[in-house]
Amino acid sequence: ELKLNHIAVGYQGTPVVQDANFRIVEGEIGCLLGPSGCGKSTLLRAIAGFEPLMAGDISLDNEVISSSETTVSPEKRSIGMVFQDIALFPHLSIGENIAFGLKHWSKQEANARIDYLLELVGLAGYKDRYPDSLSGGQQQRVALARAIAPKPKLLLMDEPFSGLDAKLREELVPDIRAILLHEKVSAILVTHDQAEAFAMADRVAIMEAGKILQVGTPYEIYHEPVSRFVAMFIGQGD
Ligand code: ATP
Ligand code: MG
Repeated sequence: ELKLNHIAVGYQGTPVVQDANFRIVEGEIGCLLGPSGCGKSTLLRAIAGFEPLMAGDISLDNEVISSSETTVSPEKRSIGMVFQDIALFPHLSIGENIAFGLKHWSKQEANARIDYLLELVGLAGYKDRYPDSLSGGQQQRVALARAIAPKPKLLLMDEPFSGLDAKLREELVPDIRAILLHEKVSAILVTHDQAEAFAMADRVAIMEAGKILQVGTPYEIYHEPVSRFVAMFIGQGD
């Protein structure tokens, strides 16, 4: 379970995100949805541990991982990440890319995990290929496999589909949701695309100018937007 409790995050002493509250339970997919510049990536980086908090706290499975006093370092958080432009290591094969997060595993276990994940993301047989011989969508599948390989408590995804064309995105989004649910990975997706958010997430937080305006299921937000901004943003306004 991930809990953001009244958090503020910012730069050079000026808060960009203020009084943010959000919670996802185990196995749930959450989403931060809002226009460019509203603070989605800032919030995600705070969850990852790259930005200190100015107020509030963040806990993961009841352990406080960030507050204005404490910060657990990013690599100790058991959090996996997939970003829009996260490149796979070009000089490593697909198998070696996925093995990167499995340094503490035995060779045999790591190999079994890699084979399992490649099968899961629909790329069985790609282990010895190199990233530049894969399409953008295939590379994102490998990035996902690499991120979930060490069985993180939480997966963070910042606009992972935005570099892909619309058609590819349409097939990839439900597929990735199915993979995450199958693996019971809790995840948070950041996007400015309403359709993507609703197709992917169990719980959505709508943001504007550093504030979370509404949290709810896609159904709740669609049918009962709390404000005109929310209604307009999700395409429900007049
Ligand atoms: P986008 O959809 O365009 O990615 P976003 O919602 O992810 O936008 P953020 O990147 O979190 O928005 O930025 C929120 C605000 O914080 C913006 O006003 C931005 O200019 C500012 N900001 C982001 N990163 C920094 C930084 N490193 N230093 C100072 N200000 C920053
Ligand atoms: Mg961003």
